Amino acid sequence: MEHFYTIQGEGFYQGHAAYFIRLGGCDVGCVWCDVKESWDAAAHPLVPIDEMVRHASQSGTEIVVITGGEPVMYDLTALTTSLKQAGLKTNIETSGAYSLTGTWDWVCLSPKKFKAPDPSVYEYADELKIIIYNKSDFAWAEEHAAKVKASCELFLQPEWSKEKEMLPLIIDYVKAHPTWKVSLQIHKYMNIP
Ligand code: SF4
Repeated sequence: MEHFYTIQGEGFYQGHAAYFIRLGGCDVGCVWCDVKESWDAAAHPLVPIDEMVRHASQSGTEIVVITGGEPVMYDLTALTTSLKQAGLKTNIETSGAYSLTGTWDWVCLSPKKFKAPDPSVYEYADELKIIIYNKSDFAWAEEHAAKVKASCELFLQPEWSKEKEMLPLIIDYVKAHPTWKVSLQIHKYMNIP
């Protein structure tokens, strides 16, 4: 759908320069999705893997973030193999709606209520990022935290349109449950993609 060099605004790699490759296509259907134009894969022309890797390499980045859309709708073996052959680190952002393919340096699992993660994905999560849209999402976050490995980094992130309402609750929750950390979408404050 698009690819661009920017600053990772969320989660564990927040603040790091990263080349984003956003794959078209998503069937998860989050009501608050901020990239609904990604949903229809057919609306986005196919791009050869070599071209994606060339752009990422030329940017000077160390990290490539594969996002969507929902990237795990596809077999990502060939893409991640080529990125790693080019010496790039492979990070993925996924709802985990399908089983994971490819070779990853970092897996950010962000489960969505609209389509539950495939059970096989939890063991690969290096980072669990839960979007907090309402109060019930804290209990839902703990359900997923119980399924990931002990070393998995845990983040609570307010849904952008609910940030004023949810951030104070997140701050209180993290203070009471310090295994969690706060994640904010700092790219939106910086007005960058
Ligand atoms: S999984 Fe991501 S791209 Fe798909 S609907 Fe939800 S927020 Fe949007």
